[in-house]
Parts: sequence; C-alpha cells; structure tokens
Amino acid sequence: MSDGTPIAQQRRLVTQLPGPRSIELMRRKNSAVASGVGTTMPVFAERAGGGVVVDVDGNSLIDLGSGIAVTSVGNSAPRVVDAVSAQVRAFTHTCFMVTPYDGYVRVAEALNRLTPGSHEKRTALFNSGAEAVENAVKIARVATKRQGVVVFDHAYHGRTNLTMAMTAKNMPYKHGFGPFAAEVYRAPLSYPFRDGGLAGEEAAARAIDVIEKQVGAANLAAVVIEPIQGEGGFIVPADGFLPALVQWCKDNGVVFVADEVQTGFARTGDLFACDHEGVVPDLIVTAKGIAGGLPLAAVTGRAELMDAPHVGGLGGTYGGNPLACAAALAVIETIETEHLVDRARHIGKTLVERLQAFGDDRIGDVRGRGAMVAVELVKAGTTEPDPDLTKAVASAAHAEGVVVLTCGTYGNVLRFLPPLAMPDHLLAEALTILEDIFRKS
Ligand SMILES: *Cc1c(COP(=O)(O)O)cnc(C)c1O
Repeated sequence: MSDGTPIAQQRRLVTQLPGPRSIELMRRKNSAVASGVGTTMPVFAERAGGGVVVDVDGNSLIDLGSGIAVTSVGNSAPRVVDAVSAQVRAFTHTCFMVTPYDGYVRVAEALNRLTPGSHEKRTALFNSGAEAVENAVKIARVATKRQGVVVFDHAYHGRTNLTMAMTAKNMPYKHGFGPFAAEVYRAPLSYPFRDGGLAGEEAAARAIDVIEKQVGAANLAAVVIEPIQGEGGFIVPADGFLPALVQWCKDNGVVFVADEVQTGFARTGDLFACDHEGVVPDLIVTAKGIAGGLPLAAVTGRAELMDAPHVGGLGGTYGGNPLACAAALAVIETIETEHLVDRARHIGKTLVERLQAFGDDRIGDVRGRGAMVAVELVKAGTTEPDPDLTKAVASAAHAEGVVVLTCGTYGNVLRFLPPLAMPDHLLAEALTILEDIFRKS
C-alpha cells in the first residue's frame, strides 16, 4: 500500500507477467467476481502514479491507458489526494438533494466557465458517463417535447439500457441484453480512413439526409455524438463535419449533445475536443477525466434547456458526491496550473511522429488529437481490418509491461491514452518496445 513516497518513474519487471500474486488473485477473482466483468490484463494493481502502475508482485508497468482516459492528471495526483483527504475528514455524503454543499456548486461553476460557449449555462452532476448521457437525453426530450435521438455508426455511449441502444457495437456491449430503448436512430459518420476521405460537409450532408428521410427533424429531440469517437476506434471526423451538424441542429430546433466523456479535460490538446473547431454544443456530457478516478459525471449546457425539467426530475443519491467534487476541483486546478493542455499536445506529437516512423505497412492509419492517438491495423496494402495482429501486439506489449488498450468496431485499433503526467523518457521507452514488437510480429 502507499506510504506516500512518489513512485519511481521506471519500467521494471521482477517476475513474468502475470506474477505469482496476480495469478493467485486472478484465481480468486474468477470464483468471486461475475465473469461478465472482464480485464484487459490479468495483473493486479497495488500503486500507481505519474506514468506507472505497480503491480502486487512489484512489477512497474508503463501506463498507456490511464484507466481508460480517466487519470489524465496522473494516478493519486498530489492535489487530488490532498483535496479528497481533507473532504473525507469533513464529511463523505449528505446527498446534495437533501442538504447541499458548496463543492457541487463550485464544480458546476467551473464547468459552466470552462465548457465551450459564452452563453448562460447550468450543470447537473451524476456518477457515470452512461448516467450523464441518459440525463442529457431526458433534458433534451423535456425541453423540445420530442422523443427521437440520433446517434452515429461506431458510437459508444455506455452500457445502461438507453445507452446500449445508443452504442453501435453488438459484441460485447449489447449481445443478448435486449430489448433496447426505443426512438434511437443511427446515422452514418465521417470516417476518413473508410469513407474514401469524404469532405466533412459532404459526410454531414449524407448523415442529415438519413436523419431527414428516416426520422424527420420535427420528431427529433437530440443529436448525440462523440467529437472524436472513443471505443468505436478513435475516429476523428473530417473538418467541417461537426460544424455542419451543429448548424443543422440549430436550424431545426434539435439539441446538439457532445459526448465528451472520453475526449474531455485536456485529453485532446484542447480542454474539450469541441474547442478544436470552435463547435459550441447545446449540452456537453463529461465524465472519465473529470475527477482523477473518483466517480463523477456531468451534463452542462444552455440554461434554458438545463432548466426545462421540473424540480426533482433530475438527480440521484450519489450524484456530485462531495469526495468526487473535491477531486474534480483539484483536477481542474492541476490542468490549469500544470498546463496539461500543452502537455497533451506535446505527448500527441511524440506519439504520432514515432508511430508514423515505424513505417509498417500494416498500420493503415495513425490518427487522433493530443494524447488520444490510435493506429488502425490492416492486412498490408489493404484496408481489411486485422484484429488478430492487434491482439497479438497488445498481448506482447502487456507481457513487456506496457499497458495498452484496443478498440474499434473491427477490433483492429490500438489506442494510446497516456496520463498527461507521463514523463517523456517513459513514453519513448514504451514506443521503442512497441516498435520492436511490430518488427517481430
Ligand atoms: C466511457 C464512455 C461512456 C460511458 O461512461 P461510463 O462512466 O463507463 O458509464 C460514454 N461515452 C463515452 C464517449 C465514453 O467513452
């Protein structure tokens, strides 16, 4: 357990991975934990900080996943530790809907200030990304008095019933779990690697045509989109795609919802991915990177939309828990004082330059923004997805003590989401290991 000393920023393997203590814990996991809850690596964590996860056998791994884009400020980041420790001694819960507390209000004020657009905003806090997405849909439906929701190919919005309907990929997210929520419609995305490089405006026109013909603007409450898709494959839409959708939504009284659960909080080299093209969503959903790992999520948006639901219509027992709020305020302070937006750009530049320099013709596409970068792997010289190579590279990296994640509808995307606290030398070492793995695979 932690004795408060900083963790050495190095990769160090003292056993094979997984080591004996992880193997034993995995055995216990398999008999105690529902098998539907999978793990990327069969390696149990004991401490983590900066760019490193230390396992129960004393191995230090390089973390290129940040617990899925959550610990962007680093694990147990000092400000987060101090703020949460102070809060836990003061009180742990009253329920904001019973006797409120200022941490919640301060997080709302911070999100209203930091999210795109200078219009008057309100925020409501929840526990998970999926819960916040559901609430964004509730708010849009009440505000517009319409029911339809448009989402996109390859979308990922969560695992609850409504968000399963909004998520595109069957296996593992939806298979056997239906029936799904009604009034969810899917439109084609801008996916430059796979749509022949369609210009953003043309891809938007194609999506809008589907929406108008198959749903009808008058039935549509919201368009919900990840500005850069996460689980779907780190798909960056062509420039112009998002602004055209926003304009169409505006012209048709449809609420434009940006799901920035994965892209938010400096990850993409802007505070929010929408900032890149000056896109101003009506509602923005945030979670993951918001609170350094404490469960928190938010919907922030135009005051007139956010205030549309009746009093008591939004909320939950734990939403905006005081510990999570203290963590979020510390995360925001860390991002601002440590210039983590710039840091994300620097990390992204290193990632893209090094991955391109691998010169491997099975890397069909290197893409992303800031410290949210991926490679899409294909059979050499084609666009045919290669999920087997992707699995093999990820497994080899895991065995070498590098935590990498995969994603994509076709299971052929390796994604890199290092903590922004990652030191340069560790990132370079991880990339050298990956380059070596590609050479040998
Ligand atoms: C992870 C994710 C969600 C769901 O968040 P949970 O906290 O896991 O419920 C929703 N949208 C996007 C874009 C995500 O990456």
